[in-house]
Amino acid sequence: MDTGHVGRRSLLIEMLAARGIVATDIDMVVLSHAHWDHIQNVDLFDRADILLHRHELRYLRNPHPADYATPPWTGRLFTEERLRVVADGEERASGVNILAAPGHSAGSLAVAVATADGLAVIAADAIQNGIVAATRRNIMVFWNAEQADRTVARLMSYADVIYPGHDHPFRLNGRDIEYLDSRPINVTRVPGQAVHVEKQDDVQPWLMPGIEQQGAPRVSVPARGRGFILQSRGARRRIRLQACTVR
Ligand SMILES: [Zn+2]
Repeated sequence: MDTGHVGRRSLLIEMLAARGIVATDIDMVVLSHAHWDHIQNVDLFDRADILLHRHELRYLRNPHPADYATPPWTGRLFTEERLRVVADGEERASGVNILAAPGHSAGSLAVAVATADGLAVIAADAIQNGIVAATRRNIMVFWNAEQADRTVARLMSYADVIYPGHDHPFRLNGRDIEYLDSRPINVTRVPGQAVHVEKQDDVQPWLMPGIEQQGAPRVSVPARGRGFILQSRGARRRIRLQACTVR
């Protein structure tokens, strides 16, 4: 899921090699959305189906001029015959379901994976980091802030573990973030220069200038409603997911 930007290209190839595979062994790539930093290496996976939400596909063909994360060349990264549009609730492998997660972008999606430790949600930029999970507010919105925040709440209500777009995976214990790993943060600096670390208690979301011009389709992210069941085998629990509806 998500192929990253070209600055991570070598790392991506190394990480695949560490698992004994190469990019052409992969037959399915899910793109959470079409922002540059999530898709640029998609050309490496030239034997894979490329899965995108249909609203994202429609949007990337005509992105807003102020949307720097979806430059006009974005659509040229994809060949039509490899693209597959996906919808909320689709099961793409055993225990692996697509979740519509709109708001950060028009057609953001997340992937829910039933694991022995419960439901893992690969949220990408629908939940960029632990602050978003704790505050229930998406930190960077290119499409619709209200939708984005409802998506955060929806995903948090299902997930046992979140894999965020720009942070390490974590569990949420009440409002406390519990990271699954304890990797250190490395800071590279000029010798002799102090490192200033700032703690931010009040982080305001960034909204794309011109966001009010972003329009249809309107996707409702209901708290209650019709849904589908996702079976989390390891945890032996059944989770009802409310379906997103398009108006
Ligand atoms: Zn993004």
